[in-house]
Amino acid sequence: MPAGFTQTDAVARFFDAARSIVGEDRVFTAPIDRAGYSDPMAFDPERHQPSGAVAAETVEEIQQILKTAAQEGVPLWPISRGKNFGYGGAAPVQAGAVVLDLSRMKRILEINEDLGYCVVEPGVSFYDLHDALAARGHRLWMSVPGNSWGSVAGNALERGVGPQPYGDHAAQICGLEVVLADGALVRTGAGAMEGNPAWHVTRNSYGPGWDQIFCQSNFGVVTRMGLWLMPAPEATMTLSLQLPEADDIERGIGLFAPLRLRGVIDHDAAWVSYIGIASYVGPRSMFWDGEGLLPESVGARIREQLKIGWWNAEVNLYGPEEVIAAKAKIVSAAAKNAAVSAGDWRTWRQGDDFGLSHAGIPSTRDMTMIGWYGGRGGHLGFSPVMPSDPALAAEQFRRARKRYEEFGIDYYGAFGVGGRQTVAVNEILYDRDSKEQERQVHALFETLIRDTHQAGFGEYRTHIDYMDAVADTFDFNDHAMGRLNEALKDTLDPKGILAPGKQGIWPARFRT
Ligand SMILES: Cc1cc2nc3c(=O)[nH]c(=O)nc-3n(C[C@H](O)[C@H](O)[C@H](O)COP(=O)(O)OP(=O)(O)OC[C@H]3O[C@@H](n4cnc5c(N)ncnc54)[C@H](O)[C@@H]3O)c2cc1C
Repeated sequence: MPAGFTQTDAVARFFDAARSIVGEDRVFTAPIDRAGYSDPMAFDPERHQPSGAVAAETVEEIQQILKTAAQEGVPLWPISRGKNFGYGGAAPVQAGAVVLDLSRMKRILEINEDLGYCVVEPGVSFYDLHDALAARGHRLWMSVPGNSWGSVAGNALERGVGPQPYGDHAAQICGLEVVLADGALVRTGAGAMEGNPAWHVTRNSYGPGWDQIFCQSNFGVVTRMGLWLMPAPEATMTLSLQLPEADDIERGIGLFAPLRLRGVIDHDAAWVSYIGIASYVGPRSMFWDGEGLLPESVGARIREQLKIGWWNAEVNLYGPEEVIAAKAKIVSAAAKNAAVSAGDWRTWRQGDDFGLSHAGIPSTRDMTMIGWYGGRGGHLGFSPVMPSDPALAAEQFRRARKRYEEFGIDYYGAFGVGGRQTVAVNEILYDRDSKEQERQVHALFETLIRDTHQAGFGEYRTHIDYMDAVADTFDFNDHAMGRLNEALKDTLDPKGILAPGKQGIWPARFRT
């Protein structure tokens, strides 16, 4: 039994009961299972090692498992596919909790091409949905995360992002089915009315909106999700842009933000630093086999070799060809005006082989990046959100880069520019076989949380190691939001069995 949750008898009784609910072959308690449900990129996998896992296939099984967990006081950590790597994988915040694995709930319950949505169970992967859409002629397009091995529902619940127009995945949620800690089954929005066909088309039904309350929270187990999908566009046009110097990021954000706000660009275009691009090509040793920070002279050579800028972006336009051709002119003129160098537009039409991520085709290419330092790779994402204000973003870049250098880690940043908000994604790559590098990365992460908080911003999502620390930065009125979350937690889950510590929300029995 790992440290953290130590009521071993209760856990043993829980697993016995779970075997009678789901059967022997869906209860996993061997050391190899516990390791399998741990975070493979963790600095200290023991810190978040679960007692085991139970895989449910139906709502009724989930209800019975919750009942038993409440009787025995055993905390559960629900996952959809559990591929939340970089943020903790399948592992719970609290060591000893039991993973409630929903990856076998894989039904695609509806695809509605006329109204542009799908309804999925938690275990449906991006590849499953892609195949189902493809089999029906691709009339709807998905938005996929850079590394698309996860689940459509789990990623949206975690507020995952993709580079497409529907890339704010939580914002596409419309109508959930949820099992609460006491076993009650609820449907949100219009789904609260028996048989209402507007469940997955209106977000503004009667009364409070609950869909977002179940995102990044521990208030229920989501068993079904309605998600809006984009009608396949008639055509797309793509433009690659580059900025030659590090400090050009200010200009880059100043270019995209107004175009996004006015709807000329309808996805969050990201400026990615050159080390990010290089890390998709191969490990650092492909370019340089020295120790310590990558020297600027090597950086310049890499940029030349890969024909990339310090910052690199791709703008995609989607829609009828005459509309996007007109938008393309506006983007090109704005880029020229801002002295941002751009290539030539490439056009795809229905029937062509559309590119990968901009067309919502799942891929795991981004996984290459974690091999940057060699060894068993790992990465952490530090992602504060700020207004799309070029000067603020440039300050954030300089602040973060200075810290990377101080802690000896190569800077890899990306700025996803929306019309109003920009997300500064700081990818922190490391070699898990180097304890020294892990220590540096941990210190860097804690410093970034502090620095960014001092500058007035917070992260939108974080790794299980840092959930308390990041929650603590949301400090208005002596952490009034934290108290509201706790009040809701104690009401909905008085026994404190669902995902204790998720996003820093602890039930009363574990609060210190
Ligand atoms: C190289 C690399 C690149 C990546 N790029 C991206 C990217 O571009 N965009 C992005 O968003 N992510 C990215 N990720 C992170 C991650 O891989 C994805 O977000 C992935 O989709 C998450 O796994 P999942 O979908 O299986 O979710 P899960 O791991 O199943 O869920 C995530 C969390 O949500 C909660 N949860 C899940 N399901 C339920 C449920 N049914 N009920 C209640 N709570 C639930 C749990 O707390 C769970 O831990 C990347 C990771 C790597 C390693």
